[in-house]
Amino acid sequence: MPTQRYAVFGHPVAHSLSPRLHALFAEQTGIDLEYLAIDASPEDFEGAVRSFLETDGCGANVTLPHKARAFGLADVHTAVAGRLGVANVLTRLPDGRIEADSNDGAGMLADLRARCRIEPRGRDVLLLGAGGAARAAAFALLDAGTQSLVVANRTLDRAHALAAALAQPARLRVLAWGDLAAAAPFGLIVNATSAGLRHDSPPALPRTLAQPHTVTYDLSYGPAAGWFLDWARAAGCARACDGLGMLVETAAGSFERWHGVRPDADAALGALRRTLP
Ligand code: NAP
Repeated sequence: MPTQRYAVFGHPVAHSLSPRLHALFAEQTGIDLEYLAIDASPEDFEGAVRSFLETDGCGANVTLPHKARAFGLADVHTAVAGRLGVANVLTRLPDGRIEADSNDGAGMLADLRARCRIEPRGRDVLLLGAGGAARAAAFALLDAGTQSLVVANRTLDRAHALAAALAQPARLRVLAWGDLAAAAPFGLIVNATSAGLRHDSPPALPRTLAQPHTVTYDLSYGPAAGWFLDWARAAGCARACDGLGMLVETAAGSFERWHGVRPDADAALGALRRTLP
């Protein structure tokens, strides 16, 4: 059997950990595969993915800024992708059609449960951010049965737009960032902003949002997660977790979709943590 080919498409993409993760999974499972990182500009993305999947590519992961375009080029959409309108996993089906899926939300929930040791069901949750990752997180958290979800975003209109898409007024509230000081403490606080990616000063978060039982989760990892995890520790939260495990879980989900085998996410995460700064 010829080597199966996969790739991650992004712009830029050189920083992506996906090739390393899929190589680790391949080693664990003994599956012979090649996994590339392909940099494609927005103008070139659709042509590059189509040519990859129409020749010998079996599947692709898609990262920023192409997740909406990936959804748009697919012939078939999973229910989750259909609801979000974005995709991070493309699969060439046996009949040649392209399937789009989004597993960011599932990856976050798996990591929250496995490593952050928190079950979102029944919790009062604060979600910071209203971009693409926040959208996936919000749907997943509501589906998981959170008691309430408060969405706070720097740009209030985007938070309202997300709330309208979520369409769960009984459990959902939008809060202006400036009104966070008046909010009651939360059981779970999820940071889905990209604030830590820039070098500007981190946004102010009142410590009153947290109590000793509060668990905090940052979708970012590495230096980008620093400001939020530092805030969580200073506020005395029970646990402060970063999103590296989410990245590993989403990669494991793609691998399982393509190869029918669930790889060992814990082992891969341990290997990554030993090598990252
Ligand atoms: P995005 O669509 O560009 O959204 C960025 C969000 O961050 C917006 O809500 C934006 O608010 C907010 N923001 C940016 N700078 C801010 C600041 N200085 N203060 C307050 N809010 C700020 O990005 P995304 O795709 O949702 O990604 C968000 C983060 O999640 C990134 O760090 C990304 O790396 C991470 N992520 C991790 C995984 C994983 O597998 N671990 C997967 C996906 C994403 P405005 O609306 O006001 O601009």
